[in-house]
Amino acid sequence: MGGHVVPIVVQKEGSREFELNEEALMSVLHRPEVRDTALCVVSIAGAFRKGKSFFMNCLLKYCMNKGSPDWLGEQLQPIGGFVWRAGMERETTGISIWSEPFLFTKSTGEKVAVILMDTQGTFDLETSAQESTFIFALTLLASSVTVYNLMNQIQEDDLMNLQTFSSYGVLAQENSHGTRSFQKLIFLVRDWSHSFEHDFGHEEGKNVLEKVLKVKEEQEPGKQRLRQGLRQSFEELECYLMPHIGTSALRDRNFKGHLEQLAPLFVEHLKLLVPRLLAPENLVVKRSCVTLGMPATADELVELFRTFIKFFNDGKLVQATSMVELISRMASEAARKRALDVYREAMDSISNPDGEDLQAAVLVEHHFASREKALAVYAKENPYAKNCAVFPIADEIREELKSEMEEMIVVTIRTNEEEQKARSSCAAASKKAKKAY
Ligand code: GDP
Ligand code: MG
Repeated sequence: MGGHVVPIVVQKEGSREFELNEEALMSVLHRPEVRDTALCVVSIAGAFRKGKSFFMNCLLKYCMNKGSPDWLGEQLQPIGGFVWRAGMERETTGISIWSEPFLFTKSTGEKVAVILMDTQGTFDLETSAQESTFIFALTLLASSVTVYNLMNQIQEDDLMNLQTFSSYGVLAQENSHGTRSFQKLIFLVRDWSHSFEHDFGHEEGKNVLEKVLKVKEEQEPGKQRLRQGLRQSFEELECYLMPHIGTSALRDRNFKGHLEQLAPLFVEHLKLLVPRLLAPENLVVKRSCVTLGMPATADELVELFRTFIKFFNDGKLVQATSMVELISRMASEAARKRALDVYREAMDSISNPDGEDLQAAVLVEHHFASREKALAVYAKENPYAKNCAVFPIADEIREELKSEMEEMIVVTIRTNEEEQKARSSCAAASKKAKKAY
C-alpha cells in the first residue's frame, strides 16, 4: 500500500504566520472510499525530539499491515513515513497527515476512517511558545484521539500546557449540551523512569494518572483548579507507561529503527500499545462541534483549520476566551446558514409559477411565518444560542440572520411589484395590439 506524508499546516518562510494547504487536506478527507464514513483523527502532540514521529510510524505500520501478526516487520521506518531523525537541526512547527485514510470496522458493523496526524511544536522555547500553543490547540480540536507524548514522567508543566484548553473546556461546558470539549487524550510517557514503583503499561499508567490528577486539600488552589478543569474538558483520559527505547537508538549513528536495535521490552510494549490504541472499539469518532450529536464532516474539519489559522494569523491570541468565541462563532454561523435555507425554502413554497398577482400583504404574512421557522431552527441547532450571556456571538449572529431575512423580503416585494407591472403593461400592450388588428 502506498501513501505519503502531506504537510497541511506550515509556517511561512521568515514569518510566524501559518499557511493551510487546503487542497491537500481536502484531497485526503474527500477520498471516495471515506465519503459518508465517520472519521477518527489520531494525532500526537508534545515537544521536539521525543520520538513522536517515530511512534506515528508504528501506528502507520499497524494500519498498513492490519490483521497480520507480524505487522511490525523488521524495520520501523516505512518508506516515505513520517520523518524522524536523530540530529538537532532546526525543525519547523506544523502539522502533517498521512495521505491515505485507513478503514476499520467496529463490531457493530460501523465503519471508521482513521486519519493519522503528526505535529511539531517546541513547548519549551519562549520565542515560539505562542506558535506551539496554537498548534497544540488546533491538534486537540481537530482530533478525536490525541496522544500527548511526554518524557520520563508527567510533570506539572505538562499539565499546565493543557491548562489554556481546560479553562476553555470549562467555559464551553456552559453551552449546556452536556458534552465535553475534547474527546480522548492519552498521556504517553516515554522512557518511564519509575518502573520500580509502577510497572510499564496501561494498567499502572491508569494508577499514575489518577495520582497525578488527584485533587488534594493541601494543594494550591491553582493546581486544584487545573486538575478539575482537565477532568471536565476531556471525555476520556488514559495513560501508558513506555519503557526506554534502548541505547542503540540514542548512540548508534546508523540507527535506522531496525527491530534488533530496539530494547526487547520496548518492542514488547509497542506490540501491546499499538493494537490497543487502534482497536476498532477504541477508535473514537470525531464529533462535530457545530452540530450536536453528529460526527464531524470533512468540510467541517477543513473549516475548523481555515478559521483557526486565520484567527491566529490575525494576531488574536489563542486563549481560553478567544477559543470559546471561535467555536461559538463557527457553530452560530453554521446554524445561521441552515436557518436561511429553511427561510428560503419556506418562501419559495409560495412563489407563483402561474404568474398570478400576489399581494404584498400576503408576501409579508408568509415572511413572518417563514422567519419564525428559521429562527426556531437557529435556536434549536446552535448549542450556544441558549446562553447568549456567555456567548454573545450567538446573539449577534441571530441579529444578522434577522436583517438578512428583512433584506430578502424587501427584495422579494420589489421584484414582485416589478413583475406585476411588467405583466400588466404586457397585457395592456397585447390588448392594444389586438384592438389595432
Ligand atoms: P519528534 O521530534 O518528537 O517527532 O521525534 P522523532 O520521532 O523525530 O525522534 C527523535 C529521536 O528520538 C530519534 O533519534 C529517535 O530514535 C529517538 N526516539 C524515538 N523514540 C524514543 C523513545 O521512546 N525514547 C527515547 N529516548 N528516544 C526515542
Ligand atoms: Mg517529528
